Amino acid sequence: MKIICVGRNYIKHAAEMNNPVPQIPLIFLKPDSAILKKNKPFFLPDFSNDLQFEAELVLRISKLGKGISKGYAHRYFDAVTVGIDFTARDLQKKFSLAGEPWDLSKTFDGSAPLGEFISKEKLRDLSDISFYLDVNGERRQTGNSSEMIFSFGDIIAYASRFYTLKTGDMIFTGTPAGVGPVKRGDNLVAFLEGQKVLDFFVR
Ligand code: MG
Repeated sequence: MKIICVGRNYIKHAAEMNNPVPQIPLIFLKPDSAILKKNKPFFLPDFSNDLQFEAELVLRISKLGKGISKGYAHRYFDAVTVGIDFTARDLQKKFSLAGEPWDLSKTFDGSAPLGEFISKEKLRDLSDISFYLDVNGERRQTGNSSEMIFSFGDIIAYASRFYTLKTGDMIFTGTPAGVGPVKRGDNLVAFLEGQKVLDFFVR
């Protein structure tokens, strides 16, 4: 399976990173070894001194598809959760400044903690899904699918021009503003529509 990720999908996050608002979805992939499930702890890697959280809505692909049109995109995922797109911000900045690919800063082992998926049928409106992230009990990020620059349909239509979507693939749909660094001992807890879906520690 593969994890398709979208960068800069919220205007305020693009602004906090001093990046322009993209005209087309900015896509990168994480490997399956990035996934961290069942609230297992995240171990800080030794290659970064600025490891940052990015809480994002994540879609679970439930059907094989290629060249999917936006209008049919909702048929290709069956559940949604919150995941963390962990980013070694220092490495990302270093690679970006050098004009080099920054994949290593976002795709390393454990860089994709995943919450418990909520079935699509249990969500009243896919274009109005609220989520937030608490770190040590303090609210650090809040987002809503209505604030995304590229909707679920836009992302699936665009990504499936390049990649065949397969059952079990996941799509990280971008982070709202408020990203920040983590340190050993931090407790990250994420909620989707008020329901706790993710709860883990940084070790
Ligand atoms: Mg991200």
